[in-house]
Amino acid sequence: MTERPVMALAGTIRHDGDGGVLDDLDTVRGARRWLQQQPGILAVVTGKPVLDEELREAVVDVRRAVRALFARVVSPAPPSPADAHRLLPVDEALRLLNEAAAREPVAPQLDWPAEGPPTAGLLSAEGEPGVRLVAALARDAVDFLSGPQREHLRACRAPRCVRYFVKSHGRQEWCKPSCGNRARVARHYERARATGSPRIRPSAPPSTGR
Ligand SMILES: [Zn+2]
Repeated sequence: MTERPVMALAGTIRHDGDGGVLDDLDTVRGARRWLQQQPGILAVVTGKPVLDEELREAVVDVRRAVRALFARVVSPAPPSPADAHRLLPVDEALRLLNEAAAREPVAPQLDWPAEGPPTAGLLSAEGEPGVRLVAALARDAVDFLSGPQREHLRACRAPRCVRYFVKSHGRQEWCKPSCGNRARVARHYERARATGSPRIRPSAPPSTGR
């Protein structure tokens, strides 16, 4: 399943599997590579955005706004530890996001083929694909944050993970199964240490029942 644009954007800050944090958007080259792998985003932007430093910074601004607002959504649970120490104030995040969304004037359009259901699209009055990219990301953030999926947003609590994810079933605590395994190993290790068990083998995960 293709991730929706706002989740793909937030996910550009990710853990490197080794205790560090990677940023897919920290260079123009990295940002270009990332964008090429985002069918969900490219599908909502007509034309080919030329990703230069200016556009990279504009996309990063939308991400800063999104991650600050994601932190507000999951509160009082802790935010992703990757940027918890440098989150934008909420009013600044809202201003950045709304300004980015306002950069592209759009009109809703109805399409209704002879076969199949009617669908809504957007007619853009903006000629620059880079502006459309920034605005499309911001619009998806506005939709997500004002919609029902917001309540299912979580910051993954597995050791070292820094991802936000949308819960797809009731008891989901982790962004993906590998995070669940890591969290169970860590808990097992903690419990064993607390009870003073002499046989601690953190490299051997406990059975997960799968
Ligand atoms: Zn995770």
